[in-house]
Amino acid sequence: MIEQQIKTAIRDIHDFPKPGIIFKDITPILKDPALCTQINDAFLEKIKHLQIDAVAGVESRGFLFGLSLATKLGVPFIPVRKAGKLPHTVNQKVYELEYGTATIEIHTDAFSPGDRILIHDDLLATGGTVTATSELIQDMGGIVAGFSFVVGLSFLNGIEKISPISNNIIILAD
Ligand code: 5GP
Repeated sequence: MIEQQIKTAIRDIHDFPKPGIIFKDITPILKDPALCTQINDAFLEKIKHLQIDAVAGVESRGFLFGLSLATKLGVPFIPVRKAGKLPHTVNQKVYELEYGTATIEIHTDAFSPGDRILIHDDLLATGGTVTATSELIQDMGGIVAGFSFVVGLSFLNGIEKISPISNNIIILAD
């Protein structure tokens, strides 16, 4: 089963990026092209009914499967990046972190108002990043059609935070 294969592939890295944090490292998945294909296929099966016009991937691990999903769907990919990385004119959203704030940006011409957008990231933790992404997309006139993640950390209750935005939440390994 794909959930078990993902769980077997990812590894815990203790004290990364800071002491006390156990980081879920998804990079072993990328060494396994058959598993990558299965992940793409699993996402495609679960999102095919959502009438998606574009896939927004969150920097940087959201770019990995986000772009391949968009390409397979035949729709544009929207890079959502940290402040100062995108070269063209941008819209931005500042959001709260545990300590301080962070800023994400999207190119002003990344999509058209009314487009139905799937927000993709590698991992759902508290949901703060994709909530900020949703708000920025909605501010720009987009519709959040759903969310997709390879991994979810269910004990952090990210689903509760994002389900008011869209109930279409796909998590392959929870
Ligand atoms: P959230 O905003 O949901 O609290 O955090 C999710 C964001 O942080 C995602 O962009 C994700 O890539 C990153 N992130 C947080 N913790 C981890 C982790 O343990 N492993 C990975 N791969 N990403 C993480």
